Amino acid sequence: MTMLIMQTRDNAITFKPRKRRLSGGYRLTTEPHRDKPIPTYIEAGHRAASWMAQHTGGTAQSTIFEAFGDRPMTVHIFGGATLGADADHGVIDHRLRVFGYENMLVCDAAAMPANPGTNPALTITALAEHAMSDIPPLSGDDQSGASDPNPTTIRSDPHVRD
Ligand SMILES: Cc1cc2nc3c(=O)[nH]c(=O)nc-3n(C[C@H](O)[C@H](O)[C@H](O)COP(=O)(O)OP(=O)(O)OC[C@H]3O[C@@H](n4cnc5c(N)ncnc54)[C@H](O)[C@@H]3O)c2cc1C
Repeated sequence: MTMLIMQTRDNAITFKPRKRRLSGGYRLTTEPHRDKPIPTYIEAGHRAASWMAQHTGGTAQSTIFEAFGDRPMTVHIFGGATLGADADHGVIDHRLRVFGYENMLVCDAAAMPANPGTNPALTITALAEHAMSDIPPLSGDDQSGASDPNPTTIRSDPHVRD
């Protein structure tokens, strides 16, 4: 049985590109954030897991990386291309459009400014649907898009409807 501990604390992970030795190119690696690292031990989680183990006859344990390497694990990574008022404060606007680019949207967890402290998949889906609501449908009956020279052009002003 796997238990997932979630908190709304302001913790972070640093992503770094690292050059591959043999094949060339880069791979993305992580390391603890200097100022607000993710904890590898959470007392409330430890108590909950111990209680569960006691009642099921199991053994409470952390991941090997956390227990022996002091390296935290997360499956909820956010904030790589966050929302902001302008290019000085974020990567995308409130419609998930990338500042300075046309027809480019960020429709995944990167757009979420922070970890909500709860399961995020539905929020990510809702954000993507919100952005998609500004993509005009294909014109005419031809759903292949062949008759539309630019079928994915995003409206410059999302509040103006045709
Ligand atoms: C084990 C586990 C359990 C989880 N359980 C839950 C849960 O119960 N509830 C919940 O709400 N959330 C859960 N999550 C978190 C949730 O799955 C993620 O937050 C969410 O899927 C992130 O969505 P995303 O669209 O940003 O990225 P992803 O869902 O990771 O989608 C990224 C996509 O991009 C593709 N891709 C990557 N690189 C390239 C490339 N170069 N070219 C083309 N395609 C590429 C990948 O194949 C993938 O399909 C869980 C995560 C994990 C790992």
